[in-house]
Amino acid sequence: MQKYIFVAGGVMSSIGKGVATASIGKVLQSKGFSVTAIKFDPYINVDAGTMNPIEHGEVFVTDDGTECDQDIGNYERFLDRNLSAVNYATTGKIYLSVIQRERNLEYGGRCVEVVPDIPNEVIARIQAAGKAASADFVLIEIGGTVGEYQNMLFLEAARMMKLQNPGRVIFVLAGYLPIPEVVGEMKTKPIQTACKMLNTAGIQPDFIIGRGILPLDEPRKRKISIFCNVDPRDVISSPDAKSIYEVPLQYEAEQFGQRILTKFHIRFKNQDLADWRKFVDVIKNSKDTVKIGIVGKYFETGKFTLTDSYISVIESIKHAVWFFGKKPEIIWLSAEKYEKSSALLNELKRYNGIIIPGGFGSRGIEGKIKAIEFCRTQKIPFLGLCLGMQLAVIEFARNVCGLKNASSTEFDAKTNQPVIDLMPEQRELITSKKLGATMRLGAYDCELKTGTRSFHAYGEAKISERHRHRYEVNNEYRKILEDNGLVVAGINPQKNLVEIIELENHPFFIAVQFHPEFKSRPLKPHPLFKEFIRIAISQINSKLT
Ligand code: GLN
Repeated sequence: MQKYIFVAGGVMSSIGKGVATASIGKVLQSKGFSVTAIKFDPYINVDAGTMNPIEHGEVFVTDDGTECDQDIGNYERFLDRNLSAVNYATTGKIYLSVIQRERNLEYGGRCVEVVPDIPNEVIARIQAAGKAASADFVLIEIGGTVGEYQNMLFLEAARMMKLQNPGRVIFVLAGYLPIPEVVGEMKTKPIQTACKMLNTAGIQPDFIIGRGILPLDEPRKRKISIFCNVDPRDVISSPDAKSIYEVPLQYEAEQFGQRILTKFHIRFKNQDLADWRKFVDVIKNSKDTVKIGIVGKYFETGKFTLTDSYISVIESIKHAVWFFGKKPEIIWLSAEKYEKSSALLNELKRYNGIIIPGGFGSRGIEGKIKAIEFCRTQKIPFLGLCLGMQLAVIEFARNVCGLKNASSTEFDAKTNQPVIDLMPEQRELITSKKLGATMRLGAYDCELKTGTRSFHAYGEAKISERHRHRYEVNNEYRKILEDNGLVVAGINPQKNLVEIIELENHPFFIAVQFHPEFKSRPLKPHPLFKEFIRIAISQINSKLT
C-alpha cells in the first residue's frame, strides 16, 4: 500500500521546500524504499514553459518534454530518477483537464463544482503518479505558502486524501525561523501562526521542519512542539547549509527518516547514505577553486542577483568540479556589458572556463557573440548550451566564414544569411500562435561522429539528450561552415539536425543544441560538463607548471 507524504511551506516562500521534499525522498530511499515526488504549482499557466525565468526560475524539462518547475530538477538529482508529466501539475493544468472532461460529458451531466471536483482531480493525479512509479512513498510538494488563497485547493485535496486513506498520509510543514538583528533571538511565532493556518485548512502537521540560518535549539523545539501540537522529536532542525546536498544528512542526524517510518508502522533495514556522505565531505573540504564564468542575462532583478534561472547549469558545473575534488566558483557575467565595451572582454581570461547558457529574445545577444569570439580566439575553454550553440555558429559564420550578416531569424527576422532558422513546422506554429508546449521538447537521439572530442567525452556513439528550443542550425549553411573547419560532432539521425558542434585546435570548444544540464546527477556528473571541467583543470595545472 502506497504511502503519501505532503510537504507544505509556511511563513514565506524560497525556504527550500523542494530541497526538503527531495531530501525526505533521499533519506527514505537510503533505507531501501522506492520514492517518487510530485509538485503542484499554484499558477494558472498550464505549465512552466510560459513563465518568465526571472520570476519563476528555470524551466526544467523531463525526457517526455514536460516543461516544469525547477524543483522537478531537484527531485531528479536527489532521487537519481527520471520523472515525467505525471510528476508536475499547475492549477491551470488541473482546471483544464476538469473542463475538458466536462466538455466530453464525462461527468454524466451532473453539476461540476470546484469542491470536490478540483481536489478529486488532484488526488487522481497523485494516485496515477504513484502507480506509474510503483513507489512505496509518494511525496507531494504543495507550491506557495500556507495561508494564501492560491494553494487552498491543493491543501483541500491533501485533507481529503488523509480522510480517504487512514494511516497512509502524513503532513510536513516547512517554516522559517527569523532571527531579527535588533532582537538577536530566533523567533518561533511565525511558524506557530503558519501551523494555525494549516489547522484552519483541516490539517494537523505530523512534522515541522525549522528552516533558518541557525539550528533549532532544545527550548525552541519544545516551544514549537507545545504550540503546534507536534512531538518534540518531530520538530526537525534544518539550518542553512553550505550546500543543499547536506540536507539529507541533517535529516539523518535528526532521525527524520526513522520517525516517518515509525509513524507509518514500517520496519526498515537501516541502510545508510555512505556514498552521499563521501560526496558531501568533498563539498565541504575541497579547496582548489575552478572558476567558471556564465555569460547570461536572467539574473539581474532590481538590486538583487538571482541565479535560479540557471539552476541546473550551476548544479552541473558543481557536480563536475566536485567529481575532481575541487571547489567550484561560479561568476555571473552580464552579456550586455560587453556590448558597451569590448575592453571588458579581457576579464574572461580570469576564468578557467566560460559557459553561454540557453535563452530567448534579442537582449544581450551581441555581447554573448563577442564573448564567444574571445573564447575562440584566446583559447579559453568554452561550452555553449542551446542558444549558446546557436550563437557559436553565428560567430563562426561571421568571423571565420565571412558571412557578415549571419544571424538567427529569432532576433533578426530579415537577415539574408539565416544560419539559424525555424523548421517549417515551427514557423507554422508561430504563425498560428500555438505557443504553449510546442517547442522541440524533451529527449531526442543524437549520433556522434567518431574521433570527435564529444565522442571521446561520452564514450559512446548514440546518446539521448533533452531539448527546449524552436530554432535550428540551417542545413543550407552546413557545407560552408564545415568547409571552414566547424566540426559537426553530433546529429539527430531522424531529422538530420545539427546537435553538437566543436572546434579543433582549441583546448575545449563544444556547443550543443540540447540541454545536458538537465541530466547531470550529483554522483554522476554529465559527460560533457565533466570533460569541460577536466580540461579547465588541466589548463590551470599547465599554467602552474
Ligand atoms: N531561443 C532559442 C530557440 O528557441 C534557444 C532556446 C534555448 O536556449 N533554450 O531556439
